[in-house]
Amino acid sequence: MLELKNVYKTYRMGENVVHALKGVSLSIEDGDFVAILGPSGSGKSTLMHLLGLLDLPQQGSYTVHGREVAHLGEEELAQLRRKEIGFIFQQFNLLPRMTALENVVLPQLYSENKADFEKGKSLLAKVGLGERTEHKTNELSGGQMQRVAIARSLVNDPRVILADEPTGNLDSRSEAEIMGILKDLNAQGITVVIVTHEEEIGAQAKRRIRMRDGLIQTDERLQPIAAPISASAPVAPPVAPPSGFVHMLEQVVEHFRQGLAALATNKVRSFLSMLGILIGVGAVITMLAIGEGAQRAVEAQLASLGSDLLILKPGPALVAGVAQDKGAANRLNLGDATIIQEKLPVDDISPNVEGRGQVTYGNRNSNSAVLGTGASYALMHASDPVRGRYFTPEEDSVRSRVAVLGAKVVDRLFGDQNPIGEIIKINKVGFQVIGVLPEKGSSGWKDQDDVVLIPVQTAMHRLLGKDSIDFIDIKAAKDADMDLLQDLVKQLMLSRHKVPIAHREEAFQIGNMADVQAALSESSRTMSLLLASIATISLLVGGIGIMNIMLVSVTERTREIGLRKAVGATPKDVLYQFLIESLVIGVAGGAIGIAVGWIATELVSSWLGWATANSPAAVALSFFFSAGIGIGFGIYPARKAAALNPIEALRYE
Ligand code: ADP
Ligand code: MG
Repeated sequence: MLELKNVYKTYRMGENVVHALKGVSLSIEDGDFVAILGPSGSGKSTLMHLLGLLDLPQQGSYTVHGREVAHLGEEELAQLRRKEIGFIFQQFNLLPRMTALENVVLPQLYSENKADFEKGKSLLAKVGLGERTEHKTNELSGGQMQRVAIARSLVNDPRVILADEPTGNLDSRSEAEIMGILKDLNAQGITVVIVTHEEEIGAQAKRRIRMRDGLIQTDERLQPIAAPISASAPVAPPVAPPSGFVHMLEQVVEHFRQGLAALATNKVRSFLSMLGILIGVGAVITMLAIGEGAQRAVEAQLASLGSDLLILKPGPALVAGVAQDKGAANRLNLGDATIIQEKLPVDDISPNVEGRGQVTYGNRNSNSAVLGTGASYALMHASDPVRGRYFTPEEDSVRSRVAVLGAKVVDRLFGDQNPIGEIIKINKVGFQVIGVLPEKGSSGWKDQDDVVLIPVQTAMHRLLGKDSIDFIDIKAAKDADMDLLQDLVKQLMLSRHKVPIAHREEAFQIGNMADVQAALSESSRTMSLLLASIATISLLVGGIGIMNIMLVSVTERTREIGLRKAVGATPKDVLYQFLIESLVIGVAGGAIGIAVGWIATELVSSWLGWATANSPAAVALSFFFSAGIGIGFGIYPARKAAALNPIEALRYE
């Protein structure tokens, strides 16, 4: 039994106040067939919406099978809508993308039962649509659509059918058929309440109510209620929402299926909404790969320079006011190099002097760095000559005028000609070219290809006129403790040079390639971080794009949401549906983005020749990140959808 007591409903539209129901009391008994008639605007639909729990009264009480509606929560209301009441609308309110059968079983998605397609088919057969089960609903005529809607209202075996002008949009033949179906249902014991304009239809009911201006005017019994078949059946006690894990999983799968279907109907827009996240993820993947590749390349290059290399230099000249004084105590000499090699765990040593020179061959010339160095330079710097040979210790000690040229110098002086054996002049002194260095590229601080190497003693005594060494390269013995070696070198130098106590600390400086490496790795890591944060911003922008589209989608599908709620979806169901849709957008965008990023990485490394390294961690991270963005930015639109009032949503145009 449905019982309204002194119910009021007032609508406010800005200044306008409409009193749609002004104290209506009405009891509808089980098994009755009630027709409600009245002029347009008299409050019939408002009354039906209250009866159908699509809206709540502002005043008065409403009890459904003895349960006071005002005391029920959203979940319980949804459950009552789903199980006790079938609602039939004038506008049918079918979901156009779905088949007739899918529309019929839609309410079951929100119930404890699985979608029962067999039952759906038998209901469609019952309303005379047996062969139309797989038709999309927009391929059906009005009468057929209303029959689908009736089948839908029956799918959860309700005890009450509420029909608001179900034949209002139909021709008279369809009207007669629909009335026939409703009478059959009533004969089977289902309570039917129908709103109509037609006196003929009103005359077929068992009870006829006339409304005017929000009040019941007349209420007549035309036929007795047949002995109720199951009227005494006790009301099912409120069932707790289903909690089985399998059931939950089934619902999630079903939500996923519907989410995918919704996205598939609007492919271009779905793709566009993914675009932001797609580009973001692609950028993250590519940038991280490039950053990681650059870091590894730098590390590899430095490793070839040797982390076992020390560079010993004198500190600032120690006699104040007389910089570079001949007698400065900390100036290095060849003897220092020799003694380090003899006394300390050192594999190789190379004393160096630096200068610049005007290098000429015929009428061509080049202003290049001149490095006087030891015979083991090639070994220590992994630069065996690509042509010719390197000079020997003997050539160094007899101060031979031989030179090994960097690639750029060769290019300038000789072009394609073979330089080996030719005589060049450095600052007007003749040298024989005996070798060419491999191309090294500029390493930031100096161009290693624009250099001429000559024996250190030749450089000191025959070319640059220096009697001290500028710096000494020291290659530590295998497995030597570098820190210890640095200390030993310092102490050895201090023991050989008379340095005032106050200046012992800064008298000699020792550079360590490991320090340089650390500094470079640090800077390339900073670079990677920078790239990643730029990419993260684009991911964020992608997320905002998803949110936009989802908001549009919620607005666009307001009627659909209203319908889902009307057939028993809880706010949670609606929330999950939209969250899953935005999750799908995020994940799909992320997956495509990963593929795009991977391809871009391959292209960058093959076209530009850059070192790149895709890391599975970055891929996994961006995947989960995009899923998170899908959910995170989907929450607001989904909550908005979940909060919609069913009847307002259904009225939305
Ligand atoms: P009927 O179905 O008998 O034609 P309704 O119940 O739809 O009448 O409407 C009763 C009155 O309430 C009408 O004046 C209508 O304009 C008004 N009304 C109905 N729904 C709303 C609403 N959501 N907002 C504002 N006014 C409404
Ligand atoms: Mg109406």
